[in-house]
Amino acid sequence: MNKKDFPIFKNTKFYGKNLVYLDNAATTQKPQIVIDEFSRFYENFNANVYRGIYRLSEEATSMYEGVREKSAKFINAKSNEIVFTRNTTESLNLVVYTFAKSILKKTDTVLLSLMEHHSNIVPWQILQKEIGFSIKYIDINKENFSLENVDSLLEIKPKIISLTYISNVLGTRNDIKDIVKKARKINAFVIVDAAQAAPHIQIDVKSLDCDFLTFSAHKMLGPTGVGILYGKEELLDKMPPLLGGGEMIISVDKNKSVYKNAPFKFEAGTVNFADTIVFGKSIDYINKVGMNKISLYIKELSFYLYENLVKINGIKIYGAKNDFGIYSFSIKNIHPHDIATFLDEENIAIRAGHHCAQPLMKELSVYALSRISLYFYNTQEDIDKVSLSLSKISDLF
Ligand code: PMP
Repeated sequence: MNKKDFPIFKNTKFYGKNLVYLDNAATTQKPQIVIDEFSRFYENFNANVYRGIYRLSEEATSMYEGVREKSAKFINAKSNEIVFTRNTTESLNLVVYTFAKSILKKTDTVLLSLMEHHSNIVPWQILQKEIGFSIKYIDINKENFSLENVDSLLEIKPKIISLTYISNVLGTRNDIKDIVKKARKINAFVIVDAAQAAPHIQIDVKSLDCDFLTFSAHKMLGPTGVGILYGKEELLDKMPPLLGGGEMIISVDKNKSVYKNAPFKFEAGTVNFADTIVFGKSIDYINKVGMNKISLYIKELSFYLYENLVKINGIKIYGAKNDFGIYSFSIKNIHPHDIATFLDEENIAIRAGHHCAQPLMKELSVYALSRISLYFYNTQEDIDKVSLSLSKISDLF
């Protein structure tokens, strides 16, 4: 669907072969309309935002704030509930070092799951060193790869629950709405890592009722260097800033500073206005195609991929058939790097490694896996190509 809008598929011909890009959970390709927006911005509107009392800066500021509004609408939030960061990782770090740090005590528990990305584990461990709270992990059911025993872990009354919406390794979608409902009964806060969800499903933060939600522009056709942090207005208002400097203040004197309201108090220094403005075009493009259409198309393609993968001799898929086209697997005892290198010779790009989820790898008793992840410019032809190549690799061993 829409492959012609993405110039990389016309331009890139390594080894004389067309590119088959199947590493979309890592980052996505960009349509021409997004690429063109870089030039349009720099050729016509470049000026630092908030600072200039002149037309050009005002134009840039209004474009930047326009994308805040668009991002808010994209997930059914209010504009002042959207903080721009560099990526999902920075969004999660911001919540940990400001919000979590201000409420956690030594006796508290933070509940994560074994399918978390390192971005939702390491910051907690860093803060844990300072405060000394406990971190507990929700197990994974090895049959269907869903979260297991959530209810019994909620009995220990964690203060904060921080979970991925869709796993970047297993393709599992967690029932965040249900978990938030249960969290409310024990007064726990819920943080959602939506890095893989935002490109795939319609997110509605009001209906989810989560406290924070994070995602990255580069995984949804946008530029690198732009992350989104959604936080409930009343929580953002109470949180201290993480970084100081630039336009995040109302006033500064020698002894103290008065900060602006959220979200501005969290955006210190010159913000990444150019990339953020370009991200606006990615949202426009996704909205034009339609998130429901995208979800349905990927679901069909995901099932087609699954049916093809299970036919490969010696394959073991770590995850259930899923709607998002995310499948991690091993083939016989072939090293995942060898699989990726073999596929690269066909100009087929997949991911091989620990996928920034080492606790999950340990739980699955593997050190690394190969992963295919789809987006809506992928086609059945791409899947036929990778399936044929994977069968060839399997036959070699
Ligand atoms: N969480 C999940 C589930 C992810 O898949 C990723 C990216 N692989 C991240 C967090 C981190 O995203 P970023 O690198 O954009 O900060």
